[in-house]
Amino acid sequence: MIQLALLLALATAQDPPRRAVAVTFDDLPVAGRTVSIAARESVTAGLLRAIGKHRVPAIGFVNEMQLEDAAGRADPRQLALLRRWLDAGLELGNHTWGHPDLHRVTLAEFTADLLRGERQLRPLLAARQQAPRFFRHPFLHTGRSVAVRDSLHAFLATHGYRVAPVTIDNSDYVFASAYLAAREARDTAQAARIAAEYLDYMERVVTWYEGQSVAIAGREIPQVLLLHANALNAATFDRLCAMLRGRGYRFVPLADVLEDPVYQSPDTYAGPAGISWLHRWALTRQMPTTTYAGEPEVAGWVQEIARR
Ligand SMILES: [Zn+2]
Repeated sequence: MIQLALLLALATAQDPPRRAVAVTFDDLPVAGRTVSIAARESVTAGLLRAIGKHRVPAIGFVNEMQLEDAAGRADPRQLALLRRWLDAGLELGNHTWGHPDLHRVTLAEFTADLLRGERQLRPLLAARQQAPRFFRHPFLHTGRSVAVRDSLHAFLATHGYRVAPVTIDNSDYVFASAYLAAREARDTAQAARIAAEYLDYMERVVTWYEGQSVAIAGREIPQVLLLHANALNAATFDRLCAMLRGRGYRFVPLADVLEDPVYQSPDTYAGPAGISWLHRWALTRQMPTTTYAGEPEVAGWVQEIARR
């Protein structure tokens, strides 16, 4: 009996906490300035390989501007990239057509762009007896007034959408830009250094948001991770998943995460920043700003390469 108790105690001490995360990819088919169709196919294949290996029920948010030519015709090769996500059993959501900033355009302009952003998606999903269910705000900009924000929410509900929040926000796009620059310069050593630094940064980010969750929600909530569909994540998502698994995360669909009551928390945030929903809840409750000090930063040398 003593031995069993000891074994149980050891198991408890060594098992990582049980955690859950929904993984979301923005700017599909491929974020940033990856232009050639071959490169876009390679990014898509890399992401889907790692997603499949780790059985991540990910959701991708589409910008249809990427699919269309000047006359508004969709490129079948780009549509094929989206079909590959659906063939892999993954969900697709709306991220607007042209990635407008709700803080710089009128609500009418924004909603027109949002609807333009489902002209390919809706039929693509309808062919599989599905419809888009989730909307992700570009830049996580949700409106400079509660009135605009609530009007958009009502519009989204009318069109069958729920807002896709983010709790683990990060600067993956800065690393991605630096990574692409290194790859274009055929500097594989530097690209590898950037990827390694990115993985280190992401573990610091995830750790920080675990602490933020406890500080703000009083416990570790099921999280929503924002990533972008880019070459860096195609190259590193396998290792990123291994890191998350090592921290005790299991991968769950976005809809499941949102069933946690914390996602019904009061939110009256109407500030300029595109921030984590954890921080929106904290600001709504007027928690002291010291609560969210110490966010991990992107190393200066990475920022410098990204700026070139
Ligand atoms: Zn985006």
